[in-house]
Amino acid sequence: MSFDFTLEKTSGAARVGRFATPHGVVHTPAFMAVGTLATVKALDPDDLRAMDAQMILANAYHLHLRPGDELVRELGGLHEFMRWDGPILTDSGGFQVFSLATLRTIDEQGVEFQSHIDGSKRRFTPESVMRIERNLGADVIMQFDHVIPGQSEVNVARDASERSLRWLARCRAEFERLVVEDPIQGRESQALFPIVQGGIHAELRREAAAAIRDMGDWRGYGIGGLSVGEAKADMYRILEDVHSVLPTDRPRYLMGVGFPEDLVEGVRRGVDLFDCVAPTRMGRNGTVFTRDGRMNIKRAEFRADRRPIDPECDCACCTRFTRAYVRHLYVSDEMLGLRLLSLHNVHFLVSLMREARAALLGDTFDGWSEAWLQRYHSRTVPVTA
Ligand SMILES: [Zn+2]
Repeated sequence: MSFDFTLEKTSGAARVGRFATPHGVVHTPAFMAVGTLATVKALDPDDLRAMDAQMILANAYHLHLRPGDELVRELGGLHEFMRWDGPILTDSGGFQVFSLATLRTIDEQGVEFQSHIDGSKRRFTPESVMRIERNLGADVIMQFDHVIPGQSEVNVARDASERSLRWLARCRAEFERLVVEDPIQGRESQALFPIVQGGIHAELRREAAAAIRDMGDWRGYGIGGLSVGEAKADMYRILEDVHSVLPTDRPRYLMGVGFPEDLVEGVRRGVDLFDCVAPTRMGRNGTVFTRDGRMNIKRAEFRADRRPIDPECDCACCTRFTRAYVRHLYVSDEMLGLRLLSLHNVHFLVSLMREARAALLGDTFDGWSEAWLQRYHSRTVPVTA
């Protein structure tokens, strides 16, 4: 079997697992760096290997528009194209179609939209998105879902959640048809993950999770539509609701959530996989994560600061460079500055999950997570200058 998930240890809802994929094992909980356009911005695959980033993300919507999923397939698929031989997950593009693209028309069949690149008219259906993700060839592919704004009222959320369920059935039918037509890739070269939607409405979330669970034996479950403007407390509550319904012997992937505190809180609530553009996007804005909270390297107080960004971080930036130097690079618009900030931030989240695994395995997770959150939140330095 190419895909397999083994739980190695649990502590309350938190767990340590081993998620086997055709391109290697992912030790969970894990943070997945986001390589939307088949590159984790500013980082080389060697950087990712060096920090032990186990699994990375790419995006079906973006790669379909440019360079085109058929071209990627022709060139050997995503792993070969971007020279990353570890596990990859592709997001279906639901989020992008509903957030980036303009002039959307949604009907039961799918969504018509204009490309955010050249304005060309496009149409996504559950079937076409499965073909795109099949062409890209990631290990884990996400269903096409109807994504709504985080605070949507219950009727809108119910409508989108129920449509996503119907689209899931169509995704699965097309996924299975493509597998049958494509004996070279074989049945277990990819796993299709469903996505639990339902906004901030507990009842809807539980219904969606139960409906998906009852549809069949999935290799893992996505939890979508969180960290999109709702209160953190709402997100944590929803995770607890969903946790109580989903099977415990499959990995749960909390989509698009990746601030350090959310990772720790998510692990406490049974989440195994995370991804977020925050570490690279914030890095490019000069914001860095540290064990004492976020800080902005632009601030004048770091002008002559000889310390590393985070004195306890063992990344390739913190083990070599001072805050003063990184600040100088950043304010001088030097490429190396953006690269080092992105590298530190991604490393910070990858190693945070490594620490969480060690704490779980060592039976110290409760104390570790309490202490970690308390220190992180005790920061007094403001984030922006
Ligand atoms: Zn660092």
